[in-house]
Amino acid sequence: MATNDRFDHFSTETVREDQILRSIASASSGQRGVQVGPGDDAAVLFPVESPLVVSVDQCIEGLHFLPGTPLKDVGVKAVRRAAGDLAAMAAAPVALVATALLPKSMSHREALLLYEAIQLEAQNLNCPLVGGDTSIQQRESDSGLHLTVTVIGTATRPVLRSGAKVGDRVCVTGPLGGSFASGRHLFPPVRIAEALQLRAQLGDDLHAMIDISDGLGKDAMAVASSSNVRFMLEASLIPCHPCSGWEDAIKDGEDHELLFVIGECADCSNLPFHVSEIGKVIAGHPGVMVSNGEGHQIDVSKEGWNHGA
Ligand SMILES: [Mg+2]
Repeated sequence: MATNDRFDHFSTETVREDQILRSIASASSGQRGVQVGPGDDAAVLFPVESPLVVSVDQCIEGLHFLPGTPLKDVGVKAVRRAAGDLAAMAAAPVALVATALLPKSMSHREALLLYEAIQLEAQNLNCPLVGGDTSIQQRESDSGLHLTVTVIGTATRPVLRSGAKVGDRVCVTGPLGGSFASGRHLFPPVRIAEALQLRAQLGDDLHAMIDISDGLGKDAMAVASSSNVRFMLEASLIPCHPCSGWEDAIKDGEDHELLFVIGECADCSNLPFHVSEIGKVIAGHPGVMVSNGEGHQIDVSKEGWNHGA
């Protein structure tokens, strides 16, 4: 791993939050939309005219990433997971804040690497890190690293889950399934640009949207349930990652592609990215069915990541 002189001086010290804060503050100064960044009691953002969109997401060792995962990868994942919810609402990023509960064994150098990864990824997404908080676990036996990232965005007309109508078409932005086997679970895509383009081109024909984090089955059900409609998907139309069949594409989580529902006459032909149309919205009790091409319709509304497991 490349070393950074700024970190080496502290490599044997315990975590010093003031040093981390100073490091973040210097790198975050002058960010777009930020009047006062890290270093004061609170950040100050310039006022915006559009509605604010706010979401929070956790990234926990042993649950969302394996022990031993490089800290810079953990930082990237934590930011991208949270930013996916801005994409789901077709919101433009404004800023993010992050909290970390660090293992007692973590060195100051490691903590700095983690925060630097968070800060760089936030910057890459035009969603500057403007503040946060750090705590250190008191016992070696305590659980591992916990990160919490809160994202703030703006959207003149946020896209909700509740707008799907009978007769609409159901689409996704990219291949699904096998996120763990392919390593994409650590570096999920962030479809903010695609979401903003969908909103700009389709306007009111973009009826509902969600980012697929728990699996196509459960996330499609979240939209169907909010909209009080039923989805009929075609197995042969579901775009699958090379290491996944359609059954896995339905239940694997952490794809972070967009699932969106558009009007019957919506025109997706000029979008600068590929869209896969995978089914229709039909009337009936809320649910998600998949036609497997052999005359069978399978209920997949509960297929996906189980948060209680
Ligand atoms: Mg989401």
